[in-house]
Amino acid sequence: MKKFLLQEPVQVETPAGHRITTIRHFCKGCRICVAFCPKQVLGLDDRFKVAALHPERCIACRMCELRCPDLAIYVTRKPAARAPVEAAPR
Ligand code: SF4
Ligand code: SF4
Repeated sequence: MKKFLLQEPVQVETPAGHRITTIRHFCKGCRICVAFCPKQVLGLDDRFKVAALHPERCIACRMCELRCPDLAIYVTRKPAARAPVEAAPR
């Protein structure tokens, strides 16, 4: 992946331990993620690129990641916040 990137992704660690990663040069500033974020975490910066303006509000729902048409944002949940995997019944 790294060889396709012109710039390093920007990573923001939220107080809850989730990580919001944005790939600025993929972002076209369409604001879809901004509109779909249920916690108003995201906005655009002065270059019309996505930015995590209120990371403390992020609940790691990954709606931004799922809605972005350009793969410009993704969210990694804090490991403890992931649902436990149940063993398959035998
Ligand atoms: S949806 Fe994707 S391309 Fe559009 S503003 Fe958000 S990160 Fe940028
Ligand atoms: S993971 Fe959910 S709450 Fe966090 S920035 Fe994305 S849409 Fe907003």
